[in-house]
Amino acid sequence: MSGNPVVTAAQLPDAAAGSLVGSGNPVVTAAQPPDAAAQPPDAAAQPPDAAAQLSDAAPGHWFAFGDPVVAGGQLAEAAPKPLVENGGMGEAFDAVDVIVTKRGRGELSDAQIDWVVDAYTRGVVADEQMSSLAMAILLNGMNRREISRWTRAMIASGEQMDFSSLSRPTSDKHSTGGVGDKVTLPLAPLVAACGVAVPQLSGRGLGHTGGTLDKLESIPGWQAAMSNEQMLQQLEDVGAVVCAAGDGLAPADKKLYALRDVTGTVEAIPLIASSIMSKKIAEGTGSLVLDVKVGSGAFMKDVAQARELAETMVALGTDAGVRTVALLTNMQTPLGLTAGNALEVRESVEVLAGGGPDDVVELTLTLARAMLSGAGRPDVDPADALRDGRAMDVWRRMVLAQGGDPGAALPVARETHEILVPADGVLTELDALKVGVAAWRLGAGRARKEDPVQAGAGVELHAKPGATVRGGDPLLTLHTDTPERFERAVEALEGAWFIAPEGSRPDLLPLVIDRVG
Ligand code: URA
Repeated sequence: MSGNPVVTAAQLPDAAAGSLVGSGNPVVTAAQPPDAAAQPPDAAAQPPDAAAQLSDAAPGHWFAFGDPVVAGGQLAEAAPKPLVENGGMGEAFDAVDVIVTKRGRGELSDAQIDWVVDAYTRGVVADEQMSSLAMAILLNGMNRREISRWTRAMIASGEQMDFSSLSRPTSDKHSTGGVGDKVTLPLAPLVAACGVAVPQLSGRGLGHTGGTLDKLESIPGWQAAMSNEQMLQQLEDVGAVVCAAGDGLAPADKKLYALRDVTGTVEAIPLIASSIMSKKIAEGTGSLVLDVKVGSGAFMKDVAQARELAETMVALGTDAGVRTVALLTNMQTPLGLTAGNALEVRESVEVLAGGGPDDVVELTLTLARAMLSGAGRPDVDPADALRDGRAMDVWRRMVLAQGGDPGAALPVARETHEILVPADGVLTELDALKVGVAAWRLGAGRARKEDPVQAGAGVELHAKPGATVRGGDPLLTLHTDTPERFERAVEALEGAWFIAPEGSRPDLLPLVIDRVG
């Protein structure tokens, strides 16, 4: 990395990270040799062909999440396990019967759902049986009663946290995932700076969407793992925590999500909604804002699907006593100007310092307002806390509390490759999925959950849709430590942008498309 400009987790960069090349010189050769061991992922991310629809069976009623969480302690007792009768075979149901019911478009009973989720968690229902059931659910859907019961069963598989002992209200945000979505990084300290505690249990990236923990781990020393007690203490002292969910939280979802990932059963609205909401409800937040992404870089490719997912999740949260709203937001193009771990930390710090790309600032403030409102603080303006440095202050304390050095240099990729604007005109498209796959192939993401990620890898955008561009100017800069990845990243970007004649006015979706709840 010697010779490259460095940026720190708490300073604004003077110049773009990495060494840029002049036009006509496609690949920079850096002083340091590539890491030959790392291989680009083989498979390109496949956009899902179809999302499963909720069945058109009668909607049924929402389950009331009335079970009180044990008050006073840091952790509630694990919710009572579903009753499993000790019949002839030692189990109340047979997994094949449950699968066949759903295969035949039937409704699963509450008792069947409680049993199958619990028995899968205990290892009694085998992976191949659960994957078959997940496929039947993807194809035939679930009604609202079934989704509600499934969510409750996943919550009951583990512990529930309780933040009622904190001196301030809590609010959390969940994004359904996208490209360049670094909003949690400025948002959590911003909302904390406004007096609301933010307990953010986050994940790592898989495929083309980045993971918040991977981004934060590019800060030297920063640790994702925390005990429940440490989390509670940090929430009281600093006001914001972003950490990995412990093994005790919704273990049924952990197992089932890993299985869905390798069986083509991720894109089912009942399974996505119950997976997300079981973790958020078990986490114990008082209010929740869902950022449901729509577009090529998101799970949900169109607004109707996204609205259905949003309505399902808002109803689950509301029934569980969590004040929940959802925003449908644009993921047709990457958010901000970077996709990649350290690149996104750098951009987040720019936002916290009062700068940063307009769309990241707008979404951060919009989500912050919704979170503050859900937590009973609708009159607080988060823009003030960005402007006067309070949010940056909480960021530094949040990074320090988790072992990170907010003043340390962020990793910078050893090699860069520029892609130039082919002709004068107006950039009307820059596809989020293709940019996300390119960032992934450069090393920012992983193909299997045990793969390492490169902190400095990713894609930097020099223009966004709607901008007038000049032929020969840089459009994208690719960053990686392993230059043999450039070729496949460039392949992923084929057809990613469209440049219309000068004066064209592209019809772009707004950043915030709609609100549910
Ligand atoms: N995120 C989750 O946590 N679960 C899903 O099913 C999809 C996205």
